[in-house]
Amino acid sequence: MNSGKCPKCNSTEVYKSKGTLGGSQHTVLLMCGNGDVFEIESYVCLSCRHIEMFAMEKTEPLWGKGKSLTEAVTKSDKWAKVKP
Ligand SMILES: [Zn+2]
Repeated sequence: MNSGKCPKCNSTEVYKSKGTLGGSQHTVLLMCGNGDVFEIESYVCLSCRHIEMFAMEKTEPLWGKGKSLTEAVTKSDKWAKVKP
Protein backbone atom coordinates (compact mmCIF):
# COMPACT_ATOMS: atom_id res chain seq x y z
CA MET A 1 0.00 0.00 0.00
CA ASN A 2 2.94 2.33 0.64
CA SER A 3 3.84 1.82 -3.03
CA GLY A 4 0.73 3.86 -3.88
CA LYS A 5 -1.32 0.90 -5.12
CA CYS A 6 -4.17 -0.76 -3.22
CA PRO A 7 -3.53 -4.53 -2.71
CA LYS A 8 -7.29 -5.24 -2.66
CA CYS A 9 -8.55 -3.45 -5.77
CA ASN A 10 -5.35 -2.24 -7.52
CA SER A 11 -6.55 1.36 -7.43
CA THR A 12 -3.97 4.13 -7.19
CA GLU A 13 -6.32 6.37 -5.19
CA VAL A 14 -4.26 5.71 -2.06
CA TYR A 15 -3.66 8.41 0.54
CA LYS A 16 -1.28 8.44 3.47
CA SER A 17 -1.94 10.10 6.81
CA LYS A 18 0.35 13.07 7.40
CA GLY A 19 -0.21 13.00 11.14
CA THR A 20 2.64 14.23 13.23
CA LEU A 21 3.22 13.67 16.89
CA GLY A 22 2.24 16.05 19.61
CA GLY A 23 -0.74 18.02 18.47
CA SER A 24 -2.24 16.58 15.33
CA GLN A 25 -5.77 15.39 15.98
CA HIS A 26 -5.62 12.80 13.21
CA THR A 27 -2.52 10.97 14.36
CA VAL A 28 -3.43 7.32 14.92
CA LEU A 29 -1.86 5.67 17.92
CA LEU A 30 -1.31 2.08 18.99
CA MET A 31 -1.71 1.51 22.72
CA CYS A 32 0.30 -1.52 23.78
CA GLY A 33 -0.60 -1.52 27.45
CA ASN A 34 1.81 -0.54 30.23
CA GLY A 35 1.68 3.05 28.91
CA ASP A 36 3.57 2.25 25.73
CA VAL A 37 2.26 4.26 22.78
CA PHE A 38 3.39 3.95 19.18
CA GLU A 39 2.53 6.21 16.29
CA ILE A 40 0.78 4.55 13.35
CA GLU A 41 1.38 5.36 9.72
CA SER A 42 -1.96 4.85 7.99
CA TYR A 43 -3.04 4.44 4.36
CA VAL A 44 -6.55 4.50 2.95
CA CYS A 45 -7.81 3.52 -0.51
CA LEU A 46 -10.57 5.85 -1.68
CA SER A 47 -11.86 3.32 -4.22
CA CYS A 48 -12.63 0.37 -1.90
CA ARG A 49 -11.97 1.96 1.53
CA HIS A 50 -9.34 -0.60 2.47
CA ILE A 51 -7.08 0.68 5.26
CA GLU A 52 -3.58 -0.44 6.18
CA MET A 53 -1.67 0.65 9.23
CA PHE A 54 1.98 0.30 10.14
CA ALA A 55 3.29 0.76 13.66
CA MET A 56 6.41 2.86 14.04
CA GLU A 57 9.33 0.96 15.55
CA LYS A 58 10.06 3.04 18.67
CA THR A 59 7.95 4.73 21.30
CA GLU A 60 8.28 8.48 21.07
CA PRO A 61 9.90 10.45 23.92
CA LEU A 62 6.61 12.28 24.38
CA TRP A 63 4.97 9.12 25.73
CA GLY A 64 7.41 6.29 25.91
CA LYS A 65 10.71 5.21 27.19
CA GLY A 66 12.33 4.44 23.85
CA LYS A 67 11.03 0.89 23.94
CA SER A 68 10.91 -1.10 20.73
CA LEU A 69 7.59 -2.31 19.35
CA THR A 70 8.71 -5.93 19.74
CA GLU A 71 9.57 -5.40 23.41
CA ALA A 72 6.32 -3.58 24.18
CA VAL A 73 4.05 -6.11 22.45
CA THR A 74 5.73 -9.32 23.62
CA LYS A 75 5.88 -8.14 27.24
CA SER A 76 2.28 -6.88 27.35
CA ASP A 77 -0.51 -9.17 28.58
CA LYS A 78 -2.88 -7.33 26.20
CA TRP A 79 -1.41 -9.00 23.12
CA ALA A 80 -1.42 -12.69 22.25
CA LYS A 81 0.59 -14.28 19.46
CA VAL A 82 -1.56 -15.57 16.61
CA LYS A 83 -0.93 -19.27 16.02
CA PRO A 84 -0.06 -20.03 12.41
ZN1 LIG B 1 -8.72 -0.37 -2.90
